[in-house]
Amino acid sequence: MQFKDLKAQYQALKPQIDSAIQSVLDSSDFILGKQVEKLEIALADYVGCKYCITCANGTDALILSLMAMGIGEGDAVFTSDFTYFASAGAASLLGATVIFVDIDERTFNISFKSLENAINRVIEEGKLFPKVIISVDLFGLPACYSQIISIAKKYNLKILEDGAQGFGGRIGNKKACSFGDISTTSFFPAKPLGCYGDGGAIFTDNDVIAERLYSLRVQGCSKENKYEQYEIGINSRLDTLQAAILLEKFKAFDNYELQSVNEVAKWYTKKLRNTVITPYIPSGYYSSWAQYTIMFKDTETRNRIQNILKKKGIPCVIYYPFPLHQQNPYKETHVSDKDYQNTLKVTKTVLSLPIHPYLKEDEVDEITKLIIENM
Ligand SMILES: *Cc1c(COP(=O)(O)O)cnc(C)c1O
Repeated sequence: MQFKDLKAQYQALKPQIDSAIQSVLDSSDFILGKQVEKLEIALADYVGCKYCITCANGTDALILSLMAMGIGEGDAVFTSDFTYFASAGAASLLGATVIFVDIDERTFNISFKSLENAINRVIEEGKLFPKVIISVDLFGLPACYSQIISIAKKYNLKILEDGAQGFGGRIGNKKACSFGDISTTSFFPAKPLGCYGDGGAIFTDNDVIAERLYSLRVQGCSKENKYEQYEIGINSRLDTLQAAILLEKFKAFDNYELQSVNEVAKWYTKKLRNTVITPYIPSGYYSSWAQYTIMFKDTETRNRIQNILKKKGIPCVIYYPFPLHQQNPYKETHVSDKDYQNTLKVTKTVLSLPIHPYLKEDEVDEITKLIIENM
C-alpha cells in the first residue's frame, strides 16, 4: 500500500500527461512558457484571486511573499508551533523573529486566543514590530480565518496564508489560498495538487504586491528589461514542464479527485470514530485532506499501533513529531513549553494514515480493522 499513490494517479491520467509533456518538449520553451501563464490564469480563477504568480516551490512562495511585504530584521512574524518547518524557516531566513503560537487541539490549526496573547506580549516587550501572521491550513483544513482576520485588523498586521497543504479547501464558498493579503501553496508531489518535482504559487489581489512578485522571482529585474535591475530578488520560477503537467492534474483534481478524497475521509471517520479521535471539521469548512490524522489517548498506544500497521505493510507517518519551538534553530529563544501544551500533546499522540483519491474502501477497511482490533 502507498501513503500517497502517485503511480495510480499517473496511470489514470497517463495519456493526457504524456501528451502535455511531449508538447513542451516539442516547443522547447522550458522557462516561463505559455503553459505557465495558462496555469496561473486557471488557478487564480479557481481560488478567486486577481493574481497567481507561480514559483519554484512552496518555501520560495513564502520567502518571496515576505520579501514583497518588506519583512526583515526587527519584525515579529507569528506562526503555528505545529506545522512543517518552512512556515517558520522562511521568515527566519529573512532575519525576522518568529513567534510561535500554540494550536487548537481539535483542528490542529493556530489558536486565535494564543495568537492574540502572543501579539500582546510582543507589544508589551516593545522590542519587535509585530508585522505578519503566517496562518497555516494544516492537513488541508483552512485556519479559523474569521477570528484571524479580525485580530489582524485590530493590531494592524498582514496575513500570509500558508496554503501548501490547503489548496482545494474552503470555508463556505471562499477557497483556501484566498484568505491572506498574500497566500501561497506548494505543488510538491504529495500535496493536494502536486506536480512531478518542485513547484509553488502565490496568490494576491494586490496590484503592487503582484508586480513586485513578478520581478522578485526573476532576480528583481525591471519589467521592461531583464538585464535592468530594480531590486534584489531570487531565481524562482515554475518550469513549463511542471505547468503543463499541473494543467492536466488540476482538471482531474477539480473534476473528481477532491471529491474522491473527501469520500475516503468519510469512510475512515465512520469506521474509526468510536475508537480514536478522528479529524474535526468545523461546520461550514471543507478540507482537501492533505493528511488524515488521528489522535490516540497516549504515546504508547500511538507507537504500538504504528508498528503494527508498518509490519502489515501499511505506511503511516507522524506529522509532526516535534513542536517547532523545540527545533534546533529555535532552541535559544527560551520560550516555555507551558505555552505550547496543545502542540506538545498532539505531537505525542497523532498519526497520519494513507489518504489519496485512489484509495479503495477495502483498503480503508483493512487499515481500520487493524487499528480497532489492536486497541
Ligand atoms: C510543504 C510545505 C511547505 C513547503 O513547500 P515546498 O514546496 O516543499 O517548499 C510549506 N509549508 C507547509 C505547511 C508545507 O506543508
